[in-house]
Amino acid sequence: METIERGSAGSARVAIVGGIHGDEPAGERIVRRLAAELDEEGPGNGTVRLIVANEPALAAGTRYTDIDLNRVFPGDLESDEYERTLAPQITAELDGMDAVLALHTSHSAPPPFAIYSELTESVRRTVTGMPVEYAVDSSGLRSTTMDSVVPHTVSIEVGRQGSEEAAEFGYEACLAFLRAHGALDDEPPTFTETTVVEGREEVPKGGGEPHVYYSNFEAIPREEVFAEDDVYTHRVDEAGIVPILASEDGYEDIFGIYGQVTGVLKPPGEGELGVVSADEPPAEFGED
Ligand SMILES: [Zn+2]
Repeated sequence: METIERGSAGSARVAIVGGIHGDEPAGERIVRRLAAELDEEGPGNGTVRLIVANEPALAAGTRYTDIDLNRVFPGDLESDEYERTLAPQITAELDGMDAVLALHTSHSAPPPFAIYSELTESVRRTVTGMPVEYAVDSSGLRSTTMDSVVPHTVSIEVGRQGSEEAAEFGYEACLAFLRAHGALDDEPPTFTETTVVEGREEVPKGGGEPHVYYSNFEAIPREEVFAEDDVYTHRVDEAGIVPILASEDGYEDIFGIYGQVTGVLKPPGEGELGVVSADEPPAEFGED
């Protein structure tokens, strides 16, 4: 792990973590670009902490060396597995941070989206302050990811693994994150309403030729098949289900994750903290 400290325009203590997965070079590139662009000292008493997480895996160009880092939080310093010992070191480095952003890329198609496990005011600020249309609430999924263990952490999927677009979009998203928390004052922050999708369950993959018929966040009509192979035919039996991280060849054991749109997250200051139900019909509904 490498930590680079930069100055802040404000009082918040924020962190950006890249290179959690060694086969996702965009995260490290974005962190190093930020390190080069941001001033070492800022006018505020806050801090911007930039972290390159899994250096051995990045050097090898593999997702991990012993075990997936984003599946072993909070980890164990006494473990023989490298990533299990790295997780608590990263957690310690992020102790007391007001906001944390973890960078990821995937094999799945755009659009980029945010992921959080616990909704706090800081998380609301991060999610609505970044240029993403969707945020996945993953509190019902795995509890061993960084965003489920480190307070005020939002993960962001910035685009397709290895693509130039992912590195560019991710950099812009980081600037928006820094502005949202007052750490960067080159321009005012922009907050927008974000659609929240609750992560429901992973969709298992069996074997043989994989087919995926719906794209990320595209509503799958009831009774339609989301994905299939020689082992599984995944027919959706309830309304409002959308795929997350849908991919035919991206993952060994899953086609993606089922999600359900639960509502929207409003910008900071616009009402109580929480997901506002999308059940109510839009305002123009019923008008002539
Ligand atoms: Zn990743």
